[in-house]
Amino acid sequence: MTLPGVAAGPPKAGYDVVVVGAGVQGLATAYELARSGVTDVAVLDRSWPGGGASGRNGEMIRSAFSSREWSQLFDLSLRRFSELSAELDFNILFSPSGYLVLSTTDDELRRQHLVAAKQAEYGVQSEVLDAAEVRRLVPHANPELARGGIFQRRAGFAHHDAVVWGYLRAAARAGVSVFSGVDVHAVLASGGRVTGVRTDHGDIAADVVVNAAGAYSDDLNLTAGVRLPLVKARLEMLVTEPVKPFLRCAVATPHLLGYCHQTARGEFVGGTELPGHDETDSLNTTYHMLRDMATKWVRLFPDLGGVRILRNWAGTVSQAPDLAPVLGEAPGVSGYHLSIAWVYGFMGAPAAGRLLAESIVTGRVDAVMAPFEARRLIEGRSIAESTLVLTTDGRS
Ligand SMILES: Cc1cc2nc3c(=O)[nH]c(=O)nc-3n(C[C@H](O)[C@H](O)[C@H](O)COP(=O)(O)OP(=O)(O)OC[C@H]3O[C@@H](n4cnc5c(N)ncnc54)[C@H](O)[C@@H]3O)c2cc1C
Repeated sequence: MTLPGVAAGPPKAGYDVVVVGAGVQGLATAYELARSGVTDVAVLDRSWPGGGASGRNGEMIRSAFSSREWSQLFDLSLRRFSELSAELDFNILFSPSGYLVLSTTDDELRRQHLVAAKQAEYGVQSEVLDAAEVRRLVPHANPELARGGIFQRRAGFAHHDAVVWGYLRAAARAGVSVFSGVDVHAVLASGGRVTGVRTDHGDIAADVVVNAAGAYSDDLNLTAGVRLPLVKARLEMLVTEPVKPFLRCAVATPHLLGYCHQTARGEFVGGTELPGHDETDSLNTTYHMLRDMATKWVRLFPDLGGVRILRNWAGTVSQAPDLAPVLGEAPGVSGYHLSIAWVYGFMGAPAAGRLLAESIVTGRVDAVMAPFEARRLIEGRSIAESTLVLTTDGRS
């Protein structure tokens, strides 16, 4: 059976642009290329569109970060999220119901005041809430874990499958060919220029190749001789049976290393992490993560005690040492573009797709995208972002 929007039959022998990976990053880039008039584009995926992290994430979206770089990139994305349903002619179920990052200690709250001042400087509006205000916003949260919080009112969450399908359908309508079941074995380059890709369906020529291969992007880079210090990281999430609405906004808790929201149908969706770094790429779930998630979420929302877990799952991403994405042309291989190392790549996709496509079409790199170039990792520069709810394992 062919999925709607996925091309039937094998790819051609050549395209203007080949995108590796039909996750949200690859599809957003392909859609934006087509919007700019570049339609001879093939998106190749060895599994199915959204089969990677794009269909497995927590769906959370915000732009209130501590660094100018993250705030500006993700603010462009957030603005795009609010217009995507209309633009793609597909309801992505974006809920701009707010995003609260809890603080549990006085020290965390004090730091959130500093971060909010910076966000105001970047033009990103946020509010620091005290314990009473947090109680009004999330009355079911355990007050012991909610000393305060930083709240971004226009952030929230969207349905991850709908975003993938929306981009897929719009890209296909605009002339992009999306193939599933095509495994890319290598990026081909000659004389410092990309020439195409080698696949299990034969070689495909292209003057431009985009690596949007998610957790496997580093493996692809190595075939092109591009060496970046990336590692794989594995995350898990769960969803419960539907319960009465009790949580309107998205909530992240750095103290518990967790993030969650409640869907319109009432399911509670939450993921947590444990200190330490899991570099395996198995999609099997583990008992210890299931226990960690269940324990932490019942601790934060005691009313969840006794609610049944419907499903839990795992997903993998790639990470740079500073946890920031890598966006732009690869050093040393002209025509080879990267949209990789995404730890918050769902929320970042609308901006990244637009800016990367623009840089491919015009050759100009937008100032918002420029800091995320790969060269920073080779030269040992990093983008310091302190509000990520992720285990850093001391690496950033
Ligand atoms: C549990 C979990 C929770 C998360 N929560 C959030 C969140 O709340 N908000 C947020 O913004 N982000 C979140 N993320 C991160 C986010 O999901 C990813 O950053 C994002 O989906 C990356 O998108 P992508 O398109 O780069 O990669 P992917 O979606 O992984 O897509 C890559 C695609 O490339 C294909 N591929 C790989 N190698 C090859 C090859 N050699 N040949 C052909 N195809 C290939 C794969 O099959 C895959 O479909 C979470 C991730 C996980 C796992």
